[in-house]
Amino acid sequence: MKAYRAALLRFADDGSALYDEDGLLVIGPDASGRKVVRAAGAYSALAGNFPGVAVEHLPGRILAPGFIDLHVHFPQTDVIGSPAEGLLPWLENYTFPHESRFADPAYAQGVATVFFDELLRHGVTTALTFATSHPASVNALMEDAQRRGLRLIAGKVLQDRHSPDGVRDETEQSLADSEALIQKWHGTDRLGYAITPRFAPSCSEAQLRGAGELAAKYPDVWIQSHVAENKDEIAWARQLFPASRSYLAVYDDFGLMRERAIYAHCIHFDDEDRSLMRSTGAAAAVSPTSNLFLGSGFFDFAGADRIGFQYGLASDVGGGTSFSPFHTMLAAYYVGREGQTKQGVSLSPQQLWWRHTAGAAQALGLDGVVGNLQPGCEADFIVLNPQAMPLLARKVAHARNLDELLFSLIVLGDDRIVERTVIS
Ligand SMILES: [Zn+2]
Repeated sequence: MKAYRAALLRFADDGSALYDEDGLLVIGPDASGRKVVRAAGAYSALAGNFPGVAVEHLPGRILAPGFIDLHVHFPQTDVIGSPAEGLLPWLENYTFPHESRFADPAYAQGVATVFFDELLRHGVTTALTFATSHPASVNALMEDAQRRGLRLIAGKVLQDRHSPDGVRDETEQSLADSEALIQKWHGTDRLGYAITPRFAPSCSEAQLRGAGELAAKYPDVWIQSHVAENKDEIAWARQLFPASRSYLAVYDDFGLMRERAIYAHCIHFDDEDRSLMRSTGAAAAVSPTSNLFLGSGFFDFAGADRIGFQYGLASDVGGGTSFSPFHTMLAAYYVGREGQTKQGVSLSPQQLWWRHTAGAAQALGLDGVVGNLQPGCEADFIVLNPQAMPLLARKVAHARNLDELLFSLIVLGDDRIVERTVIS
């Protein structure tokens, strides 16, 4: 067992933040040998319960749950910052040509290394990530995550039409490859598999049907895709699937909406779409830096809360502009101002942080597993040092309550304050 003494941030079941200015986090093996949080709370209350356990004292530091990125593309690590009129030209001119290189396992391995180094440097300890359509890209990613002991979920992209040579796959083979990858990786160590139709316009009906059959056959495997990001994309999806009530309903019609199904963006929804999200237990990966960068639109937080479907925050690199959860939380705050008349100024600092940690875990069906530092959670955490940035150090010294403290970190923070990322 090992213990850490510092300020400690974690979350209650209702999503509110719990904060101990002088806290203790005790890590040790559970019955199955996994390293988990054994105790978390005020140092004064807990210190006497663990005689003989080594305590690392980190004055001035904040211990917090590792962040969860609900939607990111590892092969687009080098696509960040590629300007385009909108989603479809961005895919055609930058993303597809780049992703075609991931047929080469050595290239995929090289980018996987950079990707994980970036995630960890930014304090992200779990991600739901797209690979490319090449099985080699999934293997490269999973092997690296396994070596690092990460809880990671990823999948091979399905795209058997409206995709150029080099990334387009073949219907039957793509489904066989997906199933082989499920059997190889899902549940291996801390890894999970996600069935990954790129987006409905890139998939034939046969491919979507096959993906839905896999989703039914493997109910604890995840599903990830994109929906209702961009108006041109929506018009195209409606034209390709005229029988479905809406773009979102296409996925439902092929058996791809259920718990553990995560849809990126979910911007241009009506209330029937929102109700479909709620009734199926699917969740949205809100990707505000990407939506602002590509001019896609604004996620309607108030609408989501009014109907009551699950969502969490995501970088969506490379449409997104940063791996930093701090940048993503701040962008979500900007976007949330669109709905400000309904819910005050915007999202509160505690909500923003929860949506990127314990709330994101809940959206994945992993609440109580990652994204929190309550007893029993896997012990992935970060050590934050607000003193690492002069202006932030001043702001934090003046914070009068937890919301002011968290908001200072969200607005001013980035990877410079992530002093250490610890994987359980
Ligand atoms: Zn995406």
